[in-house]
Amino acid sequence: MLKRVDLKRDFDRHRQEYLDAITKCCEDTAFSGGKYADQFDREFADYLGVRAASGVNNGTSALHLAMLCLGIGAGDEVIVPANTYIATAWGVTYTGAVPVFVDCTADTWEIDPSLIEVKITPRTKAIIGVHLYGQPFDFAAVKKIADRHGLYVVEDCAQAAGAAYEGVKVGGLGDIGCYSFYPGKNLYAFGEGGSVVSNTQEYIDKVNVYKNQGCRVRYYHEVVGYNMRLEGIQGAVMSVSLQYLDQWNERRIELGHRYEAGITNPLVTLQRHPSNTKPVYHLFEVQVPEPEKFLQYMKDAGVECNRHYPVPCHLQKAYADLGYRAGDCPNAEQLASHCATLPMFPEMTDEECDMVIDLVNRYKG
Ligand SMILES: *Cc1c(COP(=O)(O)O)cnc(C)c1O
Repeated sequence: MLKRVDLKRDFDRHRQEYLDAITKCCEDTAFSGGKYADQFDREFADYLGVRAASGVNNGTSALHLAMLCLGIGAGDEVIVPANTYIATAWGVTYTGAVPVFVDCTADTWEIDPSLIEVKITPRTKAIIGVHLYGQPFDFAAVKKIADRHGLYVVEDCAQAAGAAYEGVKVGGLGDIGCYSFYPGKNLYAFGEGGSVVSNTQEYIDKVNVYKNQGCRVRYYHEVVGYNMRLEGIQGAVMSVSLQYLDQWNERRIELGHRYEAGITNPLVTLQRHPSNTKPVYHLFEVQVPEPEKFLQYMKDAGVECNRHYPVPCHLQKAYADLGYRAGDCPNAEQLASHCATLPMFPEMTDEECDMVIDLVNRYKG
C-alpha cells in the first residue's frame, strides 16, 4: 500500500542525525523550552527572514496566541476563510471573538479577497489568511483591504513552511505568522509543535510571556498565561529537519509538477497556482466526482488517499450557533463535497507518482 504520507522513510534516511539530536537534548535535560527550543527559534526566524520566532506546543496555540497578542477578544470579529482546517477559527473563538467566514475562489481554492469587504463591520479587527495546501493566498489583495479598514493580517502558515509570495517567504508578509509542526506537515516535529513568527518584536515578546504561564521572571506572573512552550526534544529534532526543508520542498514541487503534467482525466480538477507565488505542494488536492468512491477505488488499487476537508468550517456542527447555511460559501462547499488528497511526500518515487497518475486518469467517477 502506498501511503498518503509515509514519515517512516524520512526517519530511516536521517535516523542517526535525529537520534543524535534527541540524545543531546536528553543529556542536557533541556526538555521544556530551553536551549534546543531557543536555538530552533533563532534558526527558524533566520530561515524565514523574519525578526523573531517563538516556538509553541502546536499550531492551534500559535493561532490563539496571535489573537491574544493583537488584543483580540470578546466583542471582536475576525475574517477567516471557510475552506481551511478548523483550527484557523478555533484561535479566534478561544479569545471570545467571533470568526466570520469568507468563501474561497473557484480556481485557487484560497480566500477570495473580493468577498472580504462586505463582511467587515465596526467590530472587525483582523483577517486570517491561510496558505492552504502550501499555496500562498493573494496577500496583496488581502493587505490592501486590511489597510483600508485598519485591520491586522495574520497568516496561517501551517501548511506552507518555505512557500513564498512575490519572493518573500510566508509568515513574514503580515503582522504575525503561525506555523504548525504536526507530523505530516511539510516541516514537522516528532510529536506536537508550532511557532509564532513576526517582524514586530513586541508581538513575539508577548507570545514568550503568554506561552510561559504569564511570566518573564519565574513565579512572577504579569498576565494570565498558558502552558504552551515548545518541548526541547521537538526543537532539537526540527533543527535537523529545517536543514532539509528546502530540499524536501523542491522534491514536492517536482512531484506536484509531475502530477499536473500527467493528470489528464477531464473529470478531475486541479488547483490553480498564480505565477507570483511559490507553492510548496504540502497537500496535492484534486476535485473528483464522488470522492468517497474515488478513495475506495484508489485503496483497492493499493493507494491511500484522504480528504482535506469534507465539511467547510461554516457548516461544522461546532459553529451551528453562528447561523450559517448551505449555500453561504458555495466554492468552499463545492470543494468540500469533491475534494480528495493524493499521496504527496518528498520520499515518494517517480514510479509511485506515475502509478497514482495512471489510476487517477482511469477513474470513471
Ligand atoms: C494543522 C493546521 C493547524 C493546526 O495545527 P496543530 O499543530 O495541529 O494544532 C492550523 N491551521 C491549518 C491550516 C492547519 O493545517
